[in-house]
Amino acid sequence: MKQRKPAAPANVKTKAGGSLVAPLRPSTVQPIPDPVDPATLAEIFARLSAANPAPRSDLEYINPYTLLVAVVLSAQATDRSVNLATRDLFAKADHPAAMLALGEEVVRHHIRTIGLFNTKAKNVIALSRLLIADHGGEVPRERAHLEVLPGVGRKTASVVLNVAFGEPTIAVDTHIFRVSNRIPLAPGRTTDAVQAGLETVVPEPYRLNAHHWLILHGRYVCKARKPECWRCVIADLCRYPDKTPAPGPRS
Ligand code: SF4
Repeated sequence: MKQRKPAAPANVKTKAGGSLVAPLRPSTVQPIPDPVDPATLAEIFARLSAANPAPRSDLEYINPYTLLVAVVLSAQATDRSVNLATRDLFAKADHPAAMLALGEEVVRHHIRTIGLFNTKAKNVIALSRLLIADHGGEVPRERAHLEVLPGVGRKTASVVLNVAFGEPTIAVDTHIFRVSNRIPLAPGRTTDAVQAGLETVVPEPYRLNAHHWLILHGRYVCKARKPECWRCVIADLCRYPDKTPAPGPRS
């Protein structure tokens, strides 16, 4: 069966300030391919696990609060740009009361190199205030309580639950959406569909780290424009039809 190339997802801004992947336009809609079989899927995660047994987020953080702030800041920004801004910010404020004491203007100055910094500075102050008012200054472990915080949507809540609290959630960003549709692991037309699929099919021993393995694989190997299939540890298991051949010797 000839497999279609997954279309590049379009970012759609949410009320919470995050982004979703827009559904494909009707004119581009193709049948969704079948995912790889369970044995292949288990082998894929076994190899990703063997290649990187203890994956970590590229985002730098000190505690659940700084992780939450970093993930909020990372919407439509690179992890590298967020880390450059938060090193100084978190040295001054690594808990909500300290962030409120800094004030919105100082926060805005620290994060001015990140896209949407005006809105994000407001959200960081507002969510810090709510954490103090409703949760004693702690980051709640419940999804419902996380998702009502300013700037926090489903994806951000999933990342915090997974990384800070060890919940087996699989937040789907543009990298995971692309990888899941290419292989395909849990093909779908929206991030929510892919997340639901992954959280159903990924074998239990791999669920805790699946988010990290897939995001790192998408960011560094299965790149959007030109996946580096020649050095991919799961190339023989992946059904993507347009694999990139190994580069030839330089002339
Ligand atoms: S073989 Fe290529 S397309 Fe398939 S997962 Fe690896 S890098 Fe991505």
